[in-house]
Amino acid sequence: MDNDCLFCRIVAGEIPATVVHETETTLAFRDIDPKAPVHVLVIPKAHHPDVVALARADPAGSADLLAAAAAVAEAEGLLTDGFRLLFNTGGYAGQEVFHVHAHVLGGTSLGPMLA
Ligand code: AMP
Repeated sequence: MDNDCLFCRIVAGEIPATVVHETETTLAFRDIDPKAPVHVLVIPKAHHPDVVALARADPAGSADLLAAAAAVAEAEGLLTDGFRLLFNTGGYAGQEVFHVHAHVLGGTSLGPMLA
């Protein structure tokens, strides 16, 4: 755990979050500022700054994270119409919290990604 990391502190229960899914290695909770009717963040409990670091350090953890994101999408009813799974990675992409997180976005038509 990184004591200066917001999402590590959510994992530790020090900061409240609306948890929607949890496994031994992952946690999923609703984004505090949702950009779509469904906006859930899925994180590994272990601290890795971004998805590249996670993929390099822990391939099994990467697979766990994808499986958790799929489970969240199913539980939120997003499999029929589709959804967006997004990892902002680094400053140019707008990453603000440097504990890897997958955004699960859906519940409405999101349109082209880069329109
Ligand atoms: P990113 O720009 O990819 O780093 O996304 C960070 C996300 O974390 C944003 O969508 C924020 O709204 C969200 N966020 C920040 N603080 C919290 C919090 N305490 N609980 C839930 N989501 C948060």
